[in-house]
Amino acid sequence: MLRLGRILGFLGALFIALAPFSTEAVEVRVRLKKGLTQLELSGLGLTIGSSPAAIKPVGLPRMSEVRVQLANSSKRWNVWRVKSKTGQLTETHMGDRLFIEGETLRIGLDPVPHTLEVVVTPSRRFDVIARMDLDKYLTGVLPSEMPASWPLEALKAQAIASRSYALAIARERQAEEFDLEATVFDQVFDLRNHIDVDMSIQNKIARVVRETSGQVLLDDRGFPVKAHYHADCGGQTELARNVWGTRGKEMGTTKDALCPLSPLANWQYRISRVALRDLFASYYGLGDGVTLEALATRGRSPSGRIVDVDVVMSDREPRRVTSHQFRQILGFSHLKSTNFRMVWQGDMLVLEGRGHGHGVGMCQYGARQLAKRGLPYNEILKTYYSNAILGQSDGLRPSGAKKIL
Ligand SMILES: [Zn+2]
Repeated sequence: MLRLGRILGFLGALFIALAPFSTEAVEVRVRLKKGLTQLELSGLGLTIGSSPAAIKPVGLPRMSEVRVQLANSSKRWNVWRVKSKTGQLTETHMGDRLFIEGETLRIGLDPVPHTLEVVVTPSRRFDVIARMDLDKYLTGVLPSEMPASWPLEALKAQAIASRSYALAIARERQAEEFDLEATVFDQVFDLRNHIDVDMSIQNKIARVVRETSGQVLLDDRGFPVKAHYHADCGGQTELARNVWGTRGKEMGTTKDALCPLSPLANWQYRISRVALRDLFASYYGLGDGVTLEALATRGRSPSGRIVDVDVVMSDREPRRVTSHQFRQILGFSHLKSTNFRMVWQGDMLVLEGRGHGHGVGMCQYGARQLAKRGLPYNEILKTYYSNAILGQSDGLRPSGAKKIL
């Protein structure tokens, strides 16, 4: 496989089309677990070694269950112990990383890709990073980020958004140990949603990934776009700069007439003044004596989302957070969007809003409605990423990138 960094380097030359043609698959490095001290692993034909060259079969029956422990770790050396399920030591390795391969690998009960790298962290624990083909990665992301029961064309739009997002993030992390987190911090990657499901769902996911393989949303320089997406825009999608303060080129916004009609479009969250005080005290590092006096929203973006929130505590220090930070403090799952209004009922704050998620890029609920109306995936993508270019590529070497029709 060709390392991503090299391939991404080629993308700059996209429209000049001078870079050598490659059909090699793109590999991504996904951090599955972090901060572990031990790992329960099972698989067929397990091989383990401190370097790819030193990798060899563990001395156990073909279908093995092992426990990998970081037994001793210092600046100068790290000692790994590999034990059988019954606790019998099978081997010891030295080095700052372990390479593990095997078929039908599982960490605990969770299926994982068949090539893993275990890397010691500065805190003397270890992370587990899986290496895999980009499309393999998408089979674990797609059903984790959008229900696999949704229309095919919505799933195809999601696959391309997720592929583009992954490549854009990976491009930023070329010097890091991994390209992507397997969690909501990047995109949820969970192979249980592809492997531990009905064959018809497995086939549908595989078909969506296969039929969109190599298709990427690109900016006008030919680089993959960080194609944000969210559950439900509430009626109007949002500019990235209004959420994260970013200054890059915007990928487009749109109205979504059907979203406010969704049964899940409207939400309410209630929280007591004391609980809110504790959240802000923790956020600002304040002592027990400080109380929450008032909260006030400041401004709305053209899409209707709150811009900032002023927080008045009893020490009267002026404090203002962006509405995105406000969501983070209250919890993204509690405050589902920044399109809300709030009112005190006694010592209870009642927040009522619409939509779910940051509102940038593709609205998944809207994409589902468009697919139900018969729109193909490229039209769905055009709706939400009107400034992006849909490129068809071979192994991420886009040949003939073209504007979405
Ligand atoms: Zn929407």
